[in-house]
Amino acid sequence: MAPHERARPLSRGSVKPARDLCSECGLCDTGWVAYVRNACAFLTQGFDRMEERAHGRRRDLANDDELYFGVHQRMLTARLQAPIEGAQWTGIVSRIGVRALESGLVDAVLCVQQSPDDRFTPVPVLARTPEEVLAARVNKPTLSPNLEVLQQLPGSGIRRLLVIGVGCQIQALRAVQDTLPLDELYVLGMPCVDNVSRRGLQTFLESASRSPETVVHYEFMQDFRIHFRHSDGSEETVPFFGLDTPNLKSVFAPSCLSCFDYTNAGADLVVGYMGATFGRQWLVVRNPRGQQLLDLVEAELDTAPVTSQGDRRAAVQQGIEAYDNAVKLPLWLAEVVGFVVKRFGPRGLEYGRFSIDSHFTRNAIWVRRHHPDQAERHIPAFAKAIISRYRLPD
Ligand code: FAD
Ligand code: SF4
Ligand code: SF4
Repeated sequence: MAPHERARPLSRGSVKPARDLCSECGLCDTGWVAYVRNACAFLTQGFDRMEERAHGRRRDLANDDELYFGVHQRMLTARLQAPIEGAQWTGIVSRIGVRALESGLVDAVLCVQQSPDDRFTPVPVLARTPEEVLAARVNKPTLSPNLEVLQQLPGSGIRRLLVIGVGCQIQALRAVQDTLPLDELYVLGMPCVDNVSRRGLQTFLESASRSPETVVHYEFMQDFRIHFRHSDGSEETVPFFGLDTPNLKSVFAPSCLSCFDYTNAGADLVVGYMGATFGRQWLVVRNPRGQQLLDLVEAELDTAPVTSQGDRRAAVQQGIEAYDNAVKLPLWLAEVVGFVVKRFGPRGLEYGRFSIDSHFTRNAIWVRRHHPDQAERHIPAFAKAIISRYRLPD
């Protein structure tokens, strides 16, 4: 009998071995908690092993694109020709989920719907119909226990599964993949940073938006502004550089301040926006299984090659110091800085590198200060190589 079969199903709120670093990925709420020591992204850093297992090789650290964006065979930008109403961007992720079911590639899609009482409270499901996948569209920008629904697999009749998720969820999933009662597993990942608990989200919305109670959707976009959509359909944009950094420093979850899996290294296909120009989505095909997922929708996409423009490095170095000193700019100055950066700043893949550099340096400082004994083994080699390009405060 395998360890996860011996383990009793657990309920939410059970013990989390990663303690304060736990991202609530959901694994510990299943029988697969038996594998937590090796599976948890915050207890064991296993990027090399995961990449070899999922893609047949580790990323090539001498290749700058792989150093930053992980193992891949193809990168492109795209938009759905017929965007899905209410999706986070144009809805490529939901459309792939729908097509995976309709084409018979999989029996179910693991995705995240929302609580009927609160738009931002995630409810993971094993969706069996296109309608159930579409009901999961749009980000729930809070920690989501996606993997808890693995507990429903035994006896469900599901043998082929598409999992949609962010990096920490996918790291744990890959670690237990061989023990799951499945014949086929496809993984559609999204990049992810700066996630928050539901309470942290409230603090963020109250600090950043003029009307926190009516926000239904938001995104940090490539024009260096946060775009909030309100329930009356209106849009509000706020410059990144005007955020209340002193107040927001404690909002992000500790898991996310110690996370180096921004671009979702273990997924077969990644769909985000950070390597694309404003308004487009960014796709990273990591392996043939990822291409199989993209094949489901490629004819419905308006695609274009990735591009890269500008030089991020001075802006990243200045940002490290400003963040560390918790500088808050007055709004007029934030608008001016935002205008200049938008006009002359990094675009396309260079914007992606700007965001990775900014988050990896911030997170390395956080881990070294808060968990000095774990920093050396927790920070992966690719992140160390990126961080070494900058001057970091102690
Ligand atoms: P949709 O068709 O709207 O589908 C969204 C999918 O997201 C749904 O299938 C749903 O199951 C899933 N989902 C929603 N909330 C969660 C959650 N909390 N955990 C796991 N899965 C969830 N992209 C970047 O390029 N840079 C970023 O910094 C970045 N940060 C992100 C942070 C979070 C918390 C999330 C969830 C996503 C982030 N993304 C980021 C991805 C990006 O915002 C879009 O989700 C992605 O481009 C897909 O857009 P879409 O319109 O195709 O998605
Ligand atoms: Fe368990 Fe996931 Fe939390 Fe790690 S992050 S302790 S695997 S629930
Ligand atoms: Fe998980 Fe990292 Fe996203 Fe936090 S930032 S939810 S740890 S993938």
